[in-house]
Amino acid sequence: MTAGSWRLWGEQQRLIQSQLMKLIPAFEGYYAGNTLEQCSVCSKPIMERILRATGKAYHPHCFTCVMCHRSLDGIPFTVDAGGLIHCIEDFHK
Ligand SMILES: [Zn+2]
Ligand SMILES: [Zn+2]
Repeated sequence: MTAGSWRLWGEQQRLIQSQLMKLIPAFEGYYAGNTLEQCSVCSKPIMERILRATGKAYHPHCFTCVMCHRSLDGIPFTVDAGGLIHCIEDFHK
């Protein structure tokens, strides 16, 4: 996979997010309130961008591959039968 395709994937994600914001006007207000979600890795409130996967919320830097421990923010990933997160490369090893 090239760096170019990663960037494209990130742009698609942002496009989807901005479309969601338009669809759900209350969305932004929800996060501006006191109901900050907690990261399911470090249990601290998520103040900025929330990364959602497998029905949980994460800080972008807390959402990491169990094998190589790199952040999977903007990187395709997969979840195995045990609910562990892998980058695509490690999953196919
Ligand atoms: Zn965290
Ligand atoms: Zn990995």
